[in-house]
Amino acid sequence: MPRPRRNSGQRSIGRGLLEGVRRKRRTPYTPSGRARGRVMTRSALRFVTHRITQHPDTDVIFEAECLKCEWQATPSTDGAAVDVECMGHTGRTGHPGFRRLCTSFALVRREE
Ligand SMILES: [Zn+2]
Repeated sequence: MPRPRRNSGQRSIGRGLLEGVRRKRRTPYTPSGRARGRVMTRSALRFVTHRITQHPDTDVIFEAECLKCEWQATPSTDGAAVDVECMGHTGRTGHPGFRRLCTSFALVRREE
C-alpha cells in the first residue's frame, strides 16, 4: 500500500546523491625534502540527502495542442479550463486528439 505523501510537492529522493569532494593529497616528500613521484589528487564520494520541491513562486501550467491542426489551447494554471477549450475545439472541428502538456518547475536543495 503506498504511503501517503508528507506534504504536497515535496519528497526526498533516496538517501541522497553522490557528491564528489576532491582533496589534494599531501605531496609525498623524501626525507631530503624533495618531492618524489607524481602529485596525486584523491576523490572522496559521500551520500548527501537532497530534497526536490516545486520551485517557489511558480505554478503548474497546463497546455494542449490539437493533433490534426495547428490549434492550441490558451495556457492556464487551471487544467480544467484547458480541457474545456479542447472539448470546444472538438465540437467545432471534429478533431478528437490533443497533446496535453503539464509544466512544473522544480528546485533541488541539499539538506544540511
Ligand atoms: Zn484541430
